[in-house]
Amino acid sequence: QAKSAGGNTLRFFNSEMQTSVLERASLEADLHQALKRNELALHYQVQVDHQGVTTGVEALLRWYHPQRGWVSPATFIPLAEENRLIVPIGYWVLRSACEQLAKWSHQPAYAPLSISVNVSSVQFQQPEFVRDVEELLAETLAPPNRLVLEVTESLLMHEPVRVRSTMLKLRARGIRFALDDFGTGYSSLSYLKRLPLDELKIDQSFIHELLTDKTDAAIVDTTILLAVSLGLTVVAEGVEKKEQLDWLRGHGCYRYQGYLFGRPTPIEYLFESY
Ligand code: C2E
Ligand code: MG
Ligand code: MG
Ligand code: MG
Repeated sequence: QAKSAGGNTLRFFNSEMQTSVLERASLEADLHQALKRNELALHYQVQVDHQGVTTGVEALLRWYHPQRGWVSPATFIPLAEENRLIVPIGYWVLRSACEQLAKWSHQPAYAPLSISVNVSSVQFQQPEFVRDVEELLAETLAPPNRLVLEVTESLLMHEPVRVRSTMLKLRARGIRFALDDFGTGYSSLSYLKRLPLDELKIDQSFIHELLTDKTDAAIVDTTILLAVSLGLTVVAEGVEKKEQLDWLRGHGCYRYQGYLFGRPTPIEYLFESY
C-alpha cells in the first residue's frame, strides 16, 4: 500500500518529522511568552570604517530559551512574522535601541555612534509604525539622526507607494534607511531610484567567497560602483578575513561589519577590548 503511493508516504509518519512539527508548535507557544518572561535580548555588532574606527552598531535579536538555550533569529523570526508576534517584538527592539541611543547621547565618546535596527516588512507595514517610532523617539529622547532602520527588498513587493511615503515621513525626522541583504531579493533595481535610502548592505553570501569566486567578486564590485554613483554608503556584511577587507578597501568599499571586527555581543562587553 505504502509502496504504491510512493516511498515518501511513509516518511510523513516518521518520528523525526513529527517531532519537528510538534517542535515548531511548542516553539511558537514559547515565543508568545518570551517577551513577558524577559527572554529576549539584544546583542550588538560593530560597524567600522576604513581606518578601523567604529561608526555604529547593528542590534541583533537573541532569544534565550530556558530549556533550549540560545535560539537563532533565523529560526524564530520567520515564525514571529507568520503569527505577527514580530510586531510587539520589533517594538521592543526599537525601544531598547532608542534607550541605548539616549544613554550614549550623554557620553561624548559614544554619542557619534549610530544603531541599526532590523525592521520586518510585517512591522513596517503596520499603519501605526510611524506613530510608534515618533512616540518612542519623544519618550526616550533618542537622537533620531543616530537611528538607522534596516529594511529588505521584500518590503517593496507589496505597496511600494505607501512604503515610500512611510520612509519619507521617518526620514523627515532624521532617521536613516539601509537596504539589508542587498542582492538576495527579487525586486528590480528601480527601487533604488524610488526609495529614500542612505545605505546599502552587501549580503554576506557574496563576501564569503569573494577572493576565490569570480562571479561574487564581480557582483560585489558592481554593487559598490552602483552604490557610490547613487550616493549611498555601502557596507559589506560578513567580513571575516583581512584579505577580504583589503579587497573591499581596494575596490572602494569603506564600511564593514563582520567577525573580523567583532561578533554580536551584549552591550556591556561590546567595547571591553577598547
Ligand atoms: P542580518 O540583519 O543580515 O544580520 C547579519 C547576520 O550576520 C547576523 O546573524 C550576524 O550575526 C551575522 N554575521 C555578522 N558577521 C558575520 C560574519 O563575519 N560571518 C558570518 N557567518 N555571519 C556574520 P543573526 O544575528 O543570526 O541574524 C540573522 C538575521 O535575523 C538578521 O540578518 C536579520 O535579518 C534577522 N534579525 C536579527 N535581529 C532582528 C530583529 O531585531 N528584527 C528583525 N525583524 N529581524 C532580525
Ligand atoms: Mg541587518
Ligand atoms: Mg544582512
Ligand atoms: Mg540577513
